[in-house]
Amino acid sequence: MSTITPSFPANFFGNEPAQLASRLTKTDLATLAEVRGDTIYNWSGIHSIARKSQLVKPETEQQLSKIVRESRGKIHIIGTGLSYEQIATLPLNDPTSTLISVEHFKGLISIHHDRQTAIFGAATPVNQIISTLGEHDMMIACSPGVVGIQTIAGALATGTHGQGLFQSAYSDTVVSLRVCLPSGQIIDVDENTKDYPLQAFVTSVGMLGVILHVELKMKPRAVLYCHKTTCNFDEFLENYPEWNENSHHVKAWWFPETDQVQLWRVDEANPQLSSTFLSTDRKAPFETDNVAHSMQDTVDRYVEKLSHDTNSSATSHQPQFLTVKRFADTRNLVGYTEQILTKGIPVPQINCEIAVPLKRFREATAALHQWNKENAGKLHYPFIYRAVGKSDAWLSPVHEGPAVWIGFLVYIGEDGSVRRDGMETMERLQELLAGFGGLPHWGKHFVPKTYDFEGKIRNWNNFLELRKRVDPTGRFLSRFMSEIIVNNQKLSAEKRTRNVRAKL
Ligand SMILES: Cc1cc2nc3c(=O)[nH]c(=O)nc-3n(C[C@H](O)[C@H](O)[C@H](O)COP(=O)(O)OP(=O)(O)OC[C@H]3O[C@@H](n4cnc5c(N)ncnc54)[C@H](O)[C@@H]3O)c2cc1C
Repeated sequence: MSTITPSFPANFFGNEPAQLASRLTKTDLATLAEVRGDTIYNWSGIHSIARKSQLVKPETEQQLSKIVRESRGKIHIIGTGLSYEQIATLPLNDPTSTLISVEHFKGLISIHHDRQTAIFGAATPVNQIISTLGEHDMMIACSPGVVGIQTIAGALATGTHGQGLFQSAYSDTVVSLRVCLPSGQIIDVDENTKDYPLQAFVTSVGMLGVILHVELKMKPRAVLYCHKTTCNFDEFLENYPEWNENSHHVKAWWFPETDQVQLWRVDEANPQLSSTFLSTDRKAPFETDNVAHSMQDTVDRYVEKLSHDTNSSATSHQPQFLTVKRFADTRNLVGYTEQILTKGIPVPQINCEIAVPLKRFREATAALHQWNKENAGKLHYPFIYRAVGKSDAWLSPVHEGPAVWIGFLVYIGEDGSVRRDGMETMERLQELLAGFGGLPHWGKHFVPKTYDFEGKIRNWNNFLELRKRVDPTGRFLSRFMSEIIVNNQKLSAEKRTRNVRAKL
């Protein structure tokens, strides 16, 4: 297991911090989810997922199959617990419900240089996959996300992604999966299993059974050069699509309070920079020395606001300040992909990320700009922009074509609270982006009623039919996902009625 763990402010757990903190234990579950008393919480320790008594950790396929066949209640699966907990929350007081952790299915199973794939256990953390492939001078054939502590199965199930128009998400690197279906039958799923379409299984939000093994495409490892610059909002609005067409990985953080944008363009390093990096011990990226301080004023302003809203001292080393202060350093970097792009600091937060078709980037961003004029100071962190190419996964919000993921967040205060208007802000921004064809990340906070999933996801109904066929009694369907399905059906029926009336 990766050693990075979320770090909690001193009195994060409310009135009895010392007692609660001492009751924290990670020995019950080799994930980032927290266990306090008899309850398992999500990674930020705030929302419950299940009771400890509901947790099972099968060691073999036979054990897993038996559990799935014999369990009478709901069955959900936990990876690292990094996602919006609602997608996999069990009824806490139902002793027949089961939370499955596949933590015993971890590590490299086999590597196939001839077809450039590798097979890993489902609970292998992404960081471990990257370092194992690195030993073979290979890399996963997609851009990694901000953190690599999550399990590969959880990353696939939620459509987790990095950035770059010439790739899409982890799920688009999947060649085959080994899955325990809700019937308990264990099957291999690949592009030839027509009854069990691979692209439905790669991103299923845990609704189609338990993934055990994952076969991923890999590619030769490259040394990358990250060029950091600062620009203003107008330049960003004008050039962002073109920057994405011309660079492998582009990341942009727009600070609406000052309209400054920090831009990272990441491409293969030239032979000279590459060989300089390869001649080091390669354990860290090497930094070029053109330090610019153009972001300092913006950073100071955000830190001050964050300090006020989370009741913390701006001089503290709490992770939310580190995430913002890092923007003051604009040194260019040379190193491996993950050394540049997978450097996130997990901080307790409410985090939304909405995919908007890339062709609507300008109008959506202009609307956010207007919103910020009317609502200054509501966010703790810049908007983060990451464009990706089309995904083949049925449930991917990026299934129709290239899109830009727009992320925004509010941090959680020392006492575990969210600023009074924080949730309202998250909801308003989601409504605004949904108006531009936006769809949410399955693993981050979202308000289901905001989105027309059936209307926007071409294979939505095909997925629902498959789900019903493999899990007719809905044991793998969480209450949250079930409500999404039912409400979308109602919404579509209303839409159809309106259309019929309009035609009459
Ligand atoms: C600090 C932070 C940074 C993040 N950065 C990014 C980012 O850069 N890009 C991005 O796209 N997302 C990002 N996310 C979201 C995060 O990547 C996903 O929530 C995460 O990948 C889920 O993996 P997990 O192991 O935690 O799964 P969990 O949260 O435990 O589970 C998620 C879903 O996967 C299902 N699941 C888990 N294991 C299996 C299995 N074996 N078989 C079938 N289904 C399974 C569960 O049922 C559940 O529905 C971030 C989240 C945080 C907290």
